[in-house]
Amino acid sequence: MTIAYRAARVFDGLSEQILQNAVVLVEDGLIVSIEPAGSPPSGGEVVDLGDATLLPGLIDAHVHLVWSASAEPHEVVQQEGLALTALRCANNAALHLRAGVTTIRDVGATDGLSIDVARAVELGVLPGPRVIAAGRAIAMTGGHGWFLGREADGAEAVRHAVRSELKAGATCIKLMASGGVYGHAEEPGSPQLTVEEMHAGVEEAHKAGRKVAAHAYSVAAIGNALEAGVDSIEHGSFIDRDTAERMRESGTCLVPTMSVYRAMSEKGPELGAPEYIRRKTAEVLEASRDAFRLALETGVPVAAGTDCGAPGHPHGTLPDELRLMVELGASPTQALRFGTSAAADLLGLGDEVGSLQPGKRADLLAVDGDPTSDILALREVRMVLRDGCGVEGKYSRDELGVGF
Ligand SMILES: [Zn+2]
Repeated sequence: MTIAYRAARVFDGLSEQILQNAVVLVEDGLIVSIEPAGSPPSGGEVVDLGDATLLPGLIDAHVHLVWSASAEPHEVVQQEGLALTALRCANNAALHLRAGVTTIRDVGATDGLSIDVARAVELGVLPGPRVIAAGRAIAMTGGHGWFLGREADGAEAVRHAVRSELKAGATCIKLMASGGVYGHAEEPGSPQLTVEEMHAGVEEAHKAGRKVAAHAYSVAAIGNALEAGVDSIEHGSFIDRDTAERMRESGTCLVPTMSVYRAMSEKGPELGAPEYIRRKTAEVLEASRDAFRLALETGVPVAAGTDCGAPGHPHGTLPDELRLMVELGASPTQALRFGTSAAADLLGLGDEVGSLQPGKRADLLAVDGDPTSDILALREVRMVLRDGCGVEGKYSRDELGVGF
């Protein structure tokens, strides 16, 4: 059956132009057509959303489903059983969907649980967003986030680790190119996996048609990751102009995750986050904003990601990242593109989701008001469809809670 969704405004995820009083026709989970200011064909069901904006479901390119925004989430995961962590993942996945996020990329999960979540969503066992899952992140021994993944030293060991994650069902690969904010015996700037190690990993992932995300903060680590041929730089806070130019030329995407630093600096003290996290957050907070401004200025491809799950930053908070992008000089439609079509391209899903076009999956978000002029309207969720199936309701950001 065809269902016609009519709204006062339609943003297709690509163009600057907003269609007024347009209709999106959906059949069997796919978009059939977008009719500008037309009346829907008779016979089908009509859902009139009134003074709402219809846009593609949002895409968060950097999450950790096993974490629930507590002061030291990895301690929580270490102390609880696997079944409880899996249920935690399920709850976090649902939070994304309710916030209008219909696709996520999980870039590091204890025991590779994100792969199971991806399958559960695919099988219809779990209501959640579509998940592109890295499974276990790959770090050097003792490297950043080793507890979210596996350790590998030397090119052949990294090659084996990537092959193993792909065998387990990973649909992307995550490599740790530098230290990070999280972790007490490391600095964000210090390089970790080498060019040779990452190159072997990238080669295996690309052979299998999968993309590689590299966690990297400093110019040295970003440079190593670029030389190895990764597809995206995660965080990238200390990037300089030469490196930005290099990323623009190679088409390597930046996922700046600025909102996590704001969340950790605002909520870290009250949550009781350890001193080392608070100190390093302060160092990265401003740098990450400069990195985003530089990316805008130089034309580096950008995709939106939150790093949600980290201390003080619950799941379903992509609108916070898009709001920061607007505060730092992106236009609202530009920020919306970073959180829809650009993120879809980075995830290798550009042909399926991220924009409203005939033949694409019917991942639709309707919000009250107009996010193309006021990005905060994204918080007023009226309707969320994934593959044409609805999770309806109204959820405000505050009801999502912190640190459970
Ligand atoms: Zn992360």
